[in-house]
Amino acid sequence: MRVWKKIWGKINQESRFDNEPQRSVVLMRCIYLILLLYYSIFFIFMGAVSVADGKPFRFSWIAVISAVLTVLLFHLTYHQRIRRNLILYVIMELAWLTGFIYIFGWSCGAQQIMFVLLVLVYFFFYDALPQKAAFTVGLFLFRFTLFYYTLNHDPYSALEGNLSLILQVWSSMSFFTLMGVICGFFSSNIETADKTLVLYNQQLQKMASADPLTGIWNRRSMLTFLHGQMEQNPDRTFSVGMGDIDLFKRVNDNHGHDCGDAVLKWLTGSLQSRLEGVGQICRWGGEEFLVYFPDKNGDEATSFLLDFIMELSRTPFQWNGKDIPITMTFGVEEYDFREDLDTLIKQADEKLYIGKEGGRNQVVF
Ligand code: GH3
Ligand code: MG
Ligand code: MG
Repeated sequence: MRVWKKIWGKINQESRFDNEPQRSVVLMRCIYLILLLYYSIFFIFMGAVSVADGKPFRFSWIAVISAVLTVLLFHLTYHQRIRRNLILYVIMELAWLTGFIYIFGWSCGAQQIMFVLLVLVYFFFYDALPQKAAFTVGLFLFRFTLFYYTLNHDPYSALEGNLSLILQVWSSMSFFTLMGVICGFFSSNIETADKTLVLYNQQLQKMASADPLTGIWNRRSMLTFLHGQMEQNPDRTFSVGMGDIDLFKRVNDNHGHDCGDAVLKWLTGSLQSRLEGVGQICRWGGEEFLVYFPDKNGDEATSFLLDFIMELSRTPFQWNGKDIPITMTFGVEEYDFREDLDTLIKQADEKLYIGKEGGRNQVVF
């Protein structure tokens, strides 16, 4: 258990370079470990074959060299940039492949490793597409050259039918494992990026639609919502109330801007909780609020707002142990199924103005 933890810690050890994608480093180390396993089995296999042939360890040295180089590349992931490491890996893999095909021929299936290289280069390098396309063409030509060579030359040491098959199956299993690990890694990477993007978009949307001080909708969100409501339910009765805090400038002047901000939040909270299940509120601007009353006519909306301003005038705001009386004036307008939203809100605003002229702390319908 502790050994596993140690190995896992080693695999996850951070690169000492800035801006190095940590997950890519981890992936390369996993690939090297899978390759080590591949070479180890290959070593045992070749050892068994050569012993049977009476020539012990005839080609096992290939596996030993490959394994040593793989360990070296693994070690280098701690000391060099992953891009350089991958280039070295590609060179090593192509050299190994050439030697392998030269000795055992085409039928051992080792050439499949090229697809692994292709995927790695495409996903790892942030180079322009033409460079990646050039690598693809180069790899194809390399593969074709090797194939052409094997058409005209016998393998240096062809394996007997069954042995060749075993090697091919083992190579295929290893390459499929490598491809599975790489694709799994990149697909989970994309998933994570997608999720982050969705969350980020949601946050942006929230920021764009809410008023930063009070957290309630801003004017734009309310207008979008109301237009949507009117489109979806053109026959629905509704009213709007435009409210404005009375003599709010005095609150700021006498008690400070922080106190003014606190009043805005407090007032929003109390109006919002009263409106739960009844209507919607938005901060229209400075100290003005627009309230939407679905299914309420002007009288009903007025009655609701009257209750609210009566309670408000009975409950002063507390600031540093002092009572600060707060009152509001509202103008109410009922939708008459003819005028547009802008006109409706303008009429509510005009009534609010009448309320201010008439002495404030009142609801005008
Ligand atoms: P009236 O009864 O006629 O509405 O008087 P009033 O003083 O409320 O009206 P006026 O338009 O002269 O002043 C509005 C004040 O609201 C001025 C502005 O500083 C203040 N205000 C607007 N937005 C904010 C805010 O976010 N925070 C604070 N603290 N004050 C704000
Ligand atoms: Mg005001
Ligand atoms: Mg105002």
